[in-house]
Amino acid sequence: HGHREVASSPVTPRADPSLLFVNAGMNQFKPLLLGTVDPRSEMAGYKRVVNSQKCLRAGGKHNDLEDVGRDLYHHTFFEMLGSWSFGDYFKEEACSMAWELLTQVYGIPEDQLYVTYFGGDAALRLSPDEETREIWRSIGVSPGRLLPFGLGDNFWEMGETGPCGPCTEIHYDHVRGRDASAQVNAADPEVLEIWNLVFMEYNREADGNLRPLPRRSVDTGLGLERLTAVLQGKRSNYDTDHFTPLLDAIRMGSGARCYRGLVGAADTESVDMAYRVLADHARALAVCIADGILPGMTGTARAVRFSSEVLHAPPGLLASLVPTVVETLGDVYPELTRDVTQIMDVINENEEAFMSSLVRGRRIINRTLERSSGAQTFPVDVAWSLYQNLGFPLDLISVMLEERGVRLDSAGLEQREREETEVRGRSEVTGRLSVHAIAELQRNGVPTTDDTPKYSYTL
Ligand code: ATP
Ligand code: MG
Ligand code: MG
Ligand code: MG
Repeated sequence: HGHREVASSPVTPRADPSLLFVNAGMNQFKPLLLGTVDPRSEMAGYKRVVNSQKCLRAGGKHNDLEDVGRDLYHHTFFEMLGSWSFGDYFKEEACSMAWELLTQVYGIPEDQLYVTYFGGDAALRLSPDEETREIWRSIGVSPGRLLPFGLGDNFWEMGETGPCGPCTEIHYDHVRGRDASAQVNAADPEVLEIWNLVFMEYNREADGNLRPLPRRSVDTGLGLERLTAVLQGKRSNYDTDHFTPLLDAIRMGSGARCYRGLVGAADTESVDMAYRVLADHARALAVCIADGILPGMTGTARAVRFSSEVLHAPPGLLASLVPTVVETLGDVYPELTRDVTQIMDVINENEEAFMSSLVRGRRIINRTLERSSGAQTFPVDVAWSLYQNLGFPLDLISVMLEERGVRLDSAGLEQREREETEVRGRSEVTGRLSVHAIAELQRNGVPTTDDTPKYSYTL
């Protein structure tokens, strides 16, 4: 349909402080959507565009870290297939092209698809997107498969500020010909979102207001790993050839039992989860480092812990996966092939740093649990101290506790975080990063110059 293919941008946002990592294909086109693009640039002439964008959702507004490894379709790094109309066609063509691709070209049965549209929001005085509903009806989507949702699912926003608008999404049901409408947008592994079509009409300003954009655009994002699972007839992204070579390499390198692909309670020793976390992280780290982000010790923390404690693998497993990542992604993203050894060295150095704090962290957790034997929740102070002083990501602490049947007091931690944010606000006046700020940056993979904890233990 006359779309021009453009390259993925790096995962490091270009001159955009509102972002930690590139989280969607549209990020690089933000100036075009806002109407602030340099008229002499090549981008200014873009009308219809497609691409495959390297995305990372491990921080900021779209943060999927908590889900990664637990479910079968959220990754920290994934490839988003995108298509755009910049002031060219709008809703009708966008919907019919997407439907044609899925049902005619890929041959996905219509009775395995659901479509959602924006149901409006009274508080923001946004009316339901009836126009889109009617377009889908005329395309032939049956009323029982056409569902309205609110701001959370059907109004897409890039970040706290930036381009946004109502969206319409296509969801896939692994089971054919039943009514699973109640499972749409319900975190159900059988019914998952595959494609989001956003109608960019507003900019979310710093004061929270929505300002109409100078012209309306279409921005769509289709998750490649999810689409592949659908097309290869797999229930899990990890069973597609984006991941199977990595799972094989993990098995060879660790000697652990085979990956079985089970989720939740069935995976009692977390071995399957460890496979998924490692495969996901190897991709994310390789892509980040190739794009010049040095992730720091906490960037490798989660994967290294699973590697050593759950798979009982020798040191260096994570780095040893890099050549396999490069084999699977390097043809599309050649920057990965430039210096494979450097990528592996960075990962190995971070692994060593983390292993030494892991030993200390585990000792502290054990001691605390012994002292508070029988308690169902872990003391906030200790968790906070592990986070601040040893650079333990909170989600990792939560996983480690979960294995021992103990909960993290998340409300207490949030309260603590709020208090620390106030302190951070004050210390920023002096021009120094607070320990909290450093931990937060490192947790999100942002390199900092100051790795040394400044607070002493309260234990
Ligand atoms: P979900 O509701 O499943 O978390 P989302 O609504 O956050 O997805 P969008 O922001 O609409 O996702 O992104 C567009 C598409 O990118 C999604 O429809 C999905 O196919 C894919 N996608 C989003 N997040 C991930 C992820 N963490 N891993 C893999 N694919 C993803
Ligand atoms: Mg999401
Ligand atoms: Mg969604
Ligand atoms: Mg979505």
